[in-house]
Amino acid sequence: MSRVTGAAMVAGIVGHPIAHSMSPVLHNAWLEAAGLNGAYVPYSPGETGLARFVAGMRGGVMRGVNVTIPYKEEALALADEASDLARLAGAANLLLFRADGTVFADNTDGPGFLGALKAQAGYDPKAGPAVILGAGGAARGAAAALMLAGAPRVRIVNRTLARAEVIATELGGFVSGHAEADCRDALIGATLIVNATSLGLGGGLGPPCDFAAAPGAVVMDMVYKPLETEFLRRAAAAGHPTVDGLEMLIRQAIPAYEAFYGVAPPEDVDVRGLALAHLGVT
Ligand code: NAP
Repeated sequence: MSRVTGAAMVAGIVGHPIAHSMSPVLHNAWLEAAGLNGAYVPYSPGETGLARFVAGMRGGVMRGVNVTIPYKEEALALADEASDLARLAGAANLLLFRADGTVFADNTDGPGFLGALKAQAGYDPKAGPAVILGAGGAARGAAAALMLAGAPRVRIVNRTLARAEVIATELGGFVSGHAEADCRDALIGATLIVNATSLGLGGGLGPPCDFAAAPGAVVMDMVYKPLETEFLRRAAAAGHPTVDGLEMLIRQAIPAYEAFYGVAPPEDVDVRGLALAHLGVT
């Protein structure tokens, strides 16, 4: 007998393209293991179709959707209300469709990022200054999450200094922008170093980083293909604890599942193994 009936709780993910998304694999594995009457479905309304899609979903037809590339910024703009984190991150990866027709935007990439740091390295954002390499959407989201979690200072180092400075201005106070040439100075005293550039994706060297300038710092790479990037390999060889990007990807799905289905996902599912198999990651 089908687990999914006419009373099913329905949620999903919207992105373009969407075929390679791992989220349906994770959420449906959890739903299956929990025996919940629910489904998680992928949608791709085309490059410019997000506004029509969201308008059609108002009224709680579906519980909500995760949002992925290229819609995260637009999703925030389309929502009626948003969490502090989504506003600070400037992006939403979660939209909830309420029964009264309103749409709430949230961002679980931030909790996913912090959760991965805690799970794999026991890292507390209050421990000290953090350095983020890169100034795209992922870097901004990480900076916002660190700030809200009490990081004393966040330094953003980027090839294009102006992009780092925009984030620093918008997040204010404890966030500063730095040029690549000043990376070594920015690293001094750091307790966390994060690669949030796209360098290292699919192999390759990753961003240059003088790990010796921040002894003992936890090093994270948001890139998860390959799983052990050259950046993480160099960090581990220099004696740093490391955190991989796959853990962040998995952990952003947990609060989303809770928001959609009202319960925590079952703990006895090897979602990391599933994700590795799905991604063909080595
Ligand atoms: P994005 O907005 O395109 O930003 C890319 C960043 O990489 C920019 O700061 C860019 O610098 C820098 N960059 C690109 N090529 C470079 C080069 N040759 N030399 C120096 N810097 C370079 O991308 P994003 O959405 O922020 O994503 C960044 C990475 O995080 C991607 O690899 C993505 O897959 C990963 N990510 C992982 C997760 C996860 O769950 N693990 C979640 C989100 C993102 P400029 O500003 O100078 O162009």
